[in-house]
Amino acid sequence: MKGLPAETDFVVIGAGVAGLRAAIELAAAGRVLVLAKKEVTDSNTQQAQGGIAAPLSDEDEVILHLQDTLTAGDGLCNTEAVKILVEEGPQRIEELILWGTQFDRAGTKLVFGLESAHSRSRSLHSQGDSTGREILRSLFARAQSLKHISVAQFAFATGLLTDAGKVTGVALIDEKGTPLDIACSAVLLATGGMGQLYRNTTNPEVATADGVAMAYRAGAEVSDLEFVQFHPTALYLKKAPRFLLSEALRAEGAHLRNFELNRFMGKYHSMGELAPPDVVARAMVHEMEVSRAKDPFIYLDLTHLNATKVQKRFPRIYATLMQHNIDLTEDMIPVRPAAHYAMGGVRTDLHGKTTVAGLYAAGEAASTGVHGANRLASNSLLEGLVFGARTGKEMTLTAKSTSGAAPPPRAAYSNGPVDVGVEEVIGQIQDLMWNEVGMVRTRVGMQKAIKNLEEMAPKLAHPKTRRSHEAANLHLAALLVARSALAREESRGAHYRTDYPGHDDKKFLKHSVVRADRVVFV
Ligand SMILES: Cc1cc2nc3c(=O)[nH]c(=O)nc-3n(C[C@H](O)[C@H](O)[C@H](O)COP(=O)(O)OP(=O)(O)OC[C@H]3O[C@@H](n4cnc5c(N)ncnc54)[C@H](O)[C@@H]3O)c2cc1C
Repeated sequence: MKGLPAETDFVVIGAGVAGLRAAIELAAAGRVLVLAKKEVTDSNTQQAQGGIAAPLSDEDEVILHLQDTLTAGDGLCNTEAVKILVEEGPQRIEELILWGTQFDRAGTKLVFGLESAHSRSRSLHSQGDSTGREILRSLFARAQSLKHISVAQFAFATGLLTDAGKVTGVALIDEKGTPLDIACSAVLLATGGMGQLYRNTTNPEVATADGVAMAYRAGAEVSDLEFVQFHPTALYLKKAPRFLLSEALRAEGAHLRNFELNRFMGKYHSMGELAPPDVVARAMVHEMEVSRAKDPFIYLDLTHLNATKVQKRFPRIYATLMQHNIDLTEDMIPVRPAAHYAMGGVRTDLHGKTTVAGLYAAGEAASTGVHGANRLASNSLLEGLVFGARTGKEMTLTAKSTSGAAPPPRAAYSNGPVDVGVEEVIGQIQDLMWNEVGMVRTRVGMQKAIKNLEEMAPKLAHPKTRRSHEAANLHLAALLVARSALAREESRGAHYRTDYPGHDDKKFLKHSVVRADRVVFV
């Protein structure tokens, strides 16, 4: 698009499934500016391989999808939010199909895949393992067809503008590196995940928790941040990104083998490789520890499966691994767990409203309570669709309040070069989080992490470039996650502490909320 406007009706920060779906709803009510900090294809949505779940097949029922989601959430799902997810999900997917999304079919019939912890086959796929990419393609095409929507790529939101406790606009750095303020009536945070908090993650580079950090600075409550899902199997090669190897591979019959090439999951869970993902991830960590290898990993083995079938079912995974000279039909794949999904985020009601007027959140950046303490596979794309649409609808009710006056220009600074030392600080944050606030947590480790993070604060006090803003956001989010995890003195869902290995329903069958500097349970 040509130059950014000084004011508009709605700003949507994020062009993944949640942001684009909300923008489509908002276009009926006014001008919508969607910001993406890199290209539109740089998002978690683009990477989603496994599928999108919804109770659409003849053998499925809404109540079964609801029950499976509640079971995965380990007591902490907001049942009302889950009801909305499973009841509105089918309609949102049918709408996607009308807008041109191509899901895999056998003849004319949709094909539903079975995933771990789902009691029915209910996950739709596109081209086997490119579901997110296809959903993003069709939503983006739909958004581009609506004249009120403009999408600005490489526009990096650095903060929220507020006046008398209400959000009135967004501060950003545009494609050329110029800082700008844009006034609007309401802002949606659809900034995605925070996987970059961790040394090993399946999330792309854009997932730096910007939404959580911006919301918290603007005074919004954030919730359930201690619940971070770790995916058991991400490619582990020294210089390659931690490419996700979908759970669907294990559902198809892939085995996990330790350094001695022995299968081990049977020792840890009766379901073997199909045990819940956090159980699998922790078992892998244990096997790696006892291997005493200097640089341990686990093998994912599909070599015993029908090669043609595997290649056809997972074309994108097959092609990506081939780029690293791994033929998954013949070679075992080195894997390690990696941070994958944030169950918590900016606290919202069932319409995406945060605790700050004029500010909304949807998708992975939000905490609706839909996932509780652990997400059911393939529910997150659905969440982005359902709650993106609901939030967009709610925002259309916001009174338009922009004055039309352009905010004064600010002194320009550049997008780069990267600040001296900032990469080192980010690396330190990622290592601390991986080692002390990762899959297995202890009080001592988390206290150490918090102390070290607090000591780093002065280095991040005055961010100027994009990267230093990301570093400051990661730093703040790391502190919020670590403080929430320390406060939850039990193990539940994806949050596992060796010093409190069991549930404590009496004290902690509640959501953590960070209010100002305090973690409370409500
Ligand atoms: C490898 C992988 C596989 C997955 N597989 C599945 C699956 O099979 N099924 C499923 O349901 N879920 C899956 N997930 C999770 C799912 O993809 C995400 O939860 C979901 O897509 C999040 O959508 P979103 O719209 O909230 O955010 P995203 O799609 O991550 O979009 C975030 C957007 O915000 C923008 N942004 C962020 N910060 C800023 C800023 N400061 N300024 C401007 N723009 C900003 C980004 O540029 C991006 O456009 C997977 C995730 C990963 C990483």
